[in-house]
Order: sequence, then structure tokens, then C-alpha cells
Amino acid sequence: MGKTIAIANQKGGVGKTTTSVNLSACLATLGKRVLLVDTDPQGNATSGVGINKADINACIYNVLIDDVDAEDARVSTNIENLDVIPATIQLAGAEIELVTTISREVRLKKALEDMKDDYDYIIIDCPPSLGIMTINALTASDSVLIPVQCEFYALEGLSQLLNTVRLVQKHLNKDLMIEGVLLTMLDARTNLGLQVIEEVKKYFQDKVYNSIIPRNVRLGEAPSHGKPIITYDPKSRGAEVYLDLAKEVLANGERVG
Ligand code: ADP
Ligand code: MG
Repeated sequence: MGKTIAIANQKGGVGKTTTSVNLSACLATLGKRVLLVDTDPQGNATSGVGINKADINACIYNVLIDDVDAEDARVSTNIENLDVIPATIQLAGAEIELVTTISREVRLKKALEDMKDDYDYIIIDCPPSLGIMTINALTASDSVLIPVQCEFYALEGLSQLLNTVRLVQKHLNKDLMIEGVLLTMLDARTNLGLQVIEEVKKYFQDKVYNSIIPRNVRLGEAPSHGKPIITYDPKSRGAEVYLDLAKEVLANGERVG
């Protein structure tokens, strides 16, 4: 039975997609069977693992709205052990369409239920909002991994996110846990980064991963080549640290029960 992890933070540009793509690819490289689920209409996780949008027959929109089987939307990638359920811009309408849909918050959970046995990990890349799509992701997940960018207002907005997590725990998914907090885009040349690390550790304590993602040019380049960092430049610092993160996630344990 696979463990499902949502990568969430309603702020844009904090490294959700970069983390979803690279954590998925690193777990796959370590021999785990991984399904990456893209729930952002931007589809950056989809293109980030090399899926050409023209080649997509069905996407997560069709799964959520048209009751297409998740298995029929799944595509394999060039990376061994890694499959993806893609998103396209079509998904942009889903937030509104889901409002009038029966059991709108549990659609993704239901869709992924039958696939849990096929994978060790299901990683869900969330959009930059706390709307119905993120609620679906949190409801479908065992835990949530929160990327936090090492910048001045790092903690801003996190109470809103944690509040949403609590609401989901109360009404939709009582077993939802915090998987961990990941510091991203650290610029080691500034003191600010170090201050932010301290502040975030004070708040989240042992939930903060030891692996801290540096700002790394190769990490920024990799998506335009449709490759995770582990295949784009395996010797880069970015690849090393995402591999370390994957090992920490593995050490955290697979799904219990
Ligand atoms: P989100 O999904 O939270 O909006 P992204 O993962 O798309 O954030 O990251 C935003 C931008 O920053 C992207 O262009 C991405 O390639 C770049 N980026 C993310 N992490 C890093 C990093 N550690 N070093 C350099 N660039 C990064
Ligand atoms: Mg994103």
C-alpha cells in the first residue's frame, strides 16, 4: 500500500513543483515505484518529467470531472519506476465546476484508491492556492510536505495553510499528518537565509528536514529540458540534496497499516 504525500503551500514560487518532480524522481531512482500526480493547471510537473502536452489523451481534469479512470490518464516517463498523471490548462475550470459536483472534496482520493497498491509513493503537486484542488490533495494524502522558501516573509501564510490542514483533519481526513517542512532556495551567501532557517526550526522543530535545498542554477534549468535534476545533472549540488531529501523521506517510514 503506497504512501501518498501532498506537496503544498498556497504561495507560488516556493519550490512545490521542483520538489514534487525531484523528490519523485529520486525516490524512483532509489528503487521505489512512484506516481506523480499533477494538480496544477500550469502543468509544470507534467512537463518537468518530460511529458509532451500534445501526447496527453486524458488528464487529471478528466479523472476528477468526467469520471475517467485514473489508470487511463496515467502515463509512464523516461525515468524507470516513475509514472505521472498529467495536468493541462483544462484543469483551470475544475475549481468552478467542482463546486456543483457531488462529493467534490473526495474525488481525487476515490480516483487514486485503486492505484495505491501499484506504488510505494504517490506524490501530489498542488497548485498555489488553498482551493478545492488543494483540499482534494490533502484529503487524498497520508501526509503533507510543506516547502518553505528561505526569504524574509518565509512564515507568512503558513498559519493559513496549517489551519486548512486542521480543517481537513477535522472534516475529511483525520489521519492526515505533517510529513515535513522543507527549506528551499537557500542562498548561503546571505545571513538572511540562516536567520530564516532558525526561525522556521523554532516554529516547526524536528519537522524540518536536515536537507536544505540551495539555490542552484542547474535546478532552475532542468525543467526546460523536461528532466529531473537527477538525470539532467546528477553531479550537481541540487541533485545531491534532493537525493538526501528522498532518503530522509524514506527514513520517515512508509504508510502504516
Ligand atoms: P511552485 O511550484 O511553488 O510555484 P517552482 O518549483 O515552480 O515553485 O519554483 C519556482 C521557480 O523557481 C521555477 O522557475 C523553478 O525552476 C525555480 N526554482 C525552484 N527551486 C529552485 C532552486 N532550488 N534553485 C534555483 N531555482 C529554483
Ligand atoms: Mg508549481
